[in-house]
Amino acid sequence: MATYDYDLFTIGGGSGGVRASRFASQYGAKVALAEKSALGGTCVNLGCIPKKLMSYAAHFHDDFADAAGFGWQLGKTRFDWATLIANKNREIERLNGIYRTVLEQASVAVLDGHAHIEDAHTVVVNGRSITARFILIATGGRPTRPVFPGGEYGITSDDFFHMDALPARAVVTGGGYIAVELASILNGLGSKVTLIYRGSRILRTMDHDLGPFLAAEMAKKGIDVRFDTDIEAMHVDGAVKHLQLNTKPGSGGIDAECVLFATGRAANTVHLGLEKAGIAVRENGSIVVDAQFRTSIDSIYAIGDVIDRVALTPVALAEGMMVAANLFQQGERRLSYENIPTAVFSHPNVATVGMTELDARQKYGTIKIFKSEFKALKHTLSGSTERTFMKLVVDADSDRVVGVHMVGPDAGELVQGFAVALQCNATKAQFDATIGIHPTMAEEFVTMRTPV
Ligand code: NDP
Repeated sequence: MATYDYDLFTIGGGSGGVRASRFASQYGAKVALAEKSALGGTCVNLGCIPKKLMSYAAHFHDDFADAAGFGWQLGKTRFDWATLIANKNREIERLNGIYRTVLEQASVAVLDGHAHIEDAHTVVVNGRSITARFILIATGGRPTRPVFPGGEYGITSDDFFHMDALPARAVVTGGGYIAVELASILNGLGSKVTLIYRGSRILRTMDHDLGPFLAAEMAKKGIDVRFDTDIEAMHVDGAVKHLQLNTKPGSGGIDAECVLFATGRAANTVHLGLEKAGIAVRENGSIVVDAQFRTSIDSIYAIGDVIDRVALTPVALAEGMMVAANLFQQGERRLSYENIPTAVFSHPNVATVGMTELDARQKYGTIKIFKSEFKALKHTLSGSTERTFMKLVVDADSDRVVGVHMVGPDAGELVQGFAVALQCNATKAQFDATIGIHPTMAEEFVTMRTPV
């Protein structure tokens, strides 16, 4: 039998790669991992974690405004971008260190450098050839940029987290997760924000009620949300970027100090040696894998954003654990992609689990829809006009709740619990039999009685 330097060689030290390596090692495999940049990948360095910390920072804007109705008199408040970025960077460096410690404690060899695949069992890192029985590609993704004259003057989410200063005016383009999250952060911190989206419904892959509700709430918070709008060209005059839009001639453009593209992400497969190794990729560069995450080469696996299935950290973690178990615990386990809960940390938050109304109608034929829109108790005194939206999708035949959707504060915290209920095939009758916690927003999910 052939002998290799390692049982598993993982390329990429993000959420999926680290989790797979750690579990493989716990199952007795000899594991190495290569990372060319900071450990923790997009989530820790340029995504979930810094985004959520900055979202907390931006929320203080509303908190200060809400306080007066409860009797608090605040002095003049001032936001300091440099403090937030320095504190955020310090926390991320701490997490980078924790990732390294976790890998070292699990006896995973960490190699700092770019790795490329030479053949089915060989990778090259910093000029050194290393052999492995299995190779796992977990290289994640990177932001894409739209192409138009002057497009090089825009920034992406990668740059956002390291901007020198908060821009006075910002244009964010896109209508997905990153666009609404970063537009909300910039707005909360004090930029004058315009969100431009080429379509007519932001978050268009989610239930059709969520995007319009969120857009209206974002507009109430001061964001200029424009639909059916695209950038045609960008000219730079000193610090100011002038955008020419595809709107009516003569309607003018927009000026901003920052233009942020949130127009999607692509798989990180450049310079990986995929072609040489004979690994099949799709037209968009993402790697094709089977149900066990095996690529077109038997000994090479891939997980996470690089396979372009569901680009969420917890999904990459689940995929990583499954690969490790299948390779080193025997078996052909399959991951279920049903009922994956997800939250968008826009202001207000959006969270969802299960099916959209339209998908459920297509699958089940007859469905019942329960909706509620209300002003949260807090805002009876705060003076805020923010409203909350909740929706349940129920299969009429089985009475099973097949979709839970929400726009409102802490939606992710609420919907996580309801995801367990969906995982257990809970029925609407069981929702109805559940006693509410009063006074909360969450109780609305168990007190909606009349279908719309
Ligand atoms: P999305 O795919 O969610 O959204 C991309 C947006 O950009 C869409 O609205 C799309 O429009 C628009 N777009 C694409 N190309 C162009 C173009 N050339 N010009 C103008 N607009 C364009 O991508 P994101 O980058 O926001 O996020 C990527 C993924 O990362 C998400 O799908 C999610 O899985 C994950 N993520 C998760 C987060 C979370 O869990 N909270 C946070 C951030 C990201 P159209 O709708 O017309 O296609």
